[in-house]
Amino acid sequence: MKPKVAFFDFTSCEGCQLTVVDSLQTHTELLDAVEIVQFREAMTEKGEDYAVAFVEGSISRPSDEPRLKRIREQAAVLVALGACAHLGGINAIRNAMPLDDVRRYVYGDKADWYETYPARPISAVVPVDAVIPGCPIDRNEFLEVVKALLLGKKPPLPDYPLCVECKLKEHTCLFHKGGYCLGPVTRAGCGAICPTYGDGCEGCRGLIPDPNRNAMSEVLLEHGLTVDAMLARWTMFGTYQQMETGKK
Ligand code: SF4
Ligand code: SF4
Ligand code: SF4
Repeated sequence: MKPKVAFFDFTSCEGCQLTVVDSLQTHTELLDAVEIVQFREAMTEKGEDYAVAFVEGSISRPSDEPRLKRIREQAAVLVALGACAHLGGINAIRNAMPLDDVRRYVYGDKADWYETYPARPISAVVPVDAVIPGCPIDRNEFLEVVKALLLGKKPPLPDYPLCVECKLKEHTCLFHKGGYCLGPVTRAGCGAICPTYGDGCEGCRGLIPDPNRNAMSEVLLEHGLTVDAMLARWTMFGTYQQMETGKK
């Protein structure tokens, strides 16, 4: 019996699901190893009997919660797929602004038609068994996580910073080239893809355990980033975590 797998989406751009579709096209052996019973992005069937649920997207309205809880009740294993599900992600940027203002900006005089509340990661609503970080997810990491789950193992997640991967690739640090980067505090695993192509890391994979936020902020400011630009970098993917930390 192949394990039955389902994919679900909440508030997201569906880029992580697209990455899954892409991975399945190049690694068709996965389709032999599992039975996909529900995946709106890729098929019309909607099977409700599944053991593993991959959930993309953040929870951004009250009616999302009962749906996510139903998925959690059915799934033996629930995996957060991508930064929106893992962190709240870019959807949570709005949490730092008056929600009514944001709603009116987006929906104008139809704002009252749409329910909403501050965006949150799925772990704020239900227990999560595994995470595939990133915006979007890394396709190789997706494959590794699926293999680990099929073997009954907890998928490995790097707990060291991105700078390790960047240095292993022998890149010149962007801070030496007038750039800015959250690599010292960001969880590795993407192969330092942004610095590889000349862009500073914006932290889409979330932070390492016990990050030194103050030292990171000082480095960003010392290298010329304005306070506003520094805060924007911290909150691109980390608004939910920053606001939760501020409540403690
Ligand atoms: S994590 Fe990024 S790519 Fe994935 S759904 Fe969210 S916004 Fe899209
Ligand atoms: S470019 Fe970024 S990831 Fe690379 S070494 Fe510098 S700070 Fe670290
Ligand atoms: S370098 Fe940073 S922003 Fe880019 S994919 Fe990796 S973790 Fe995400």
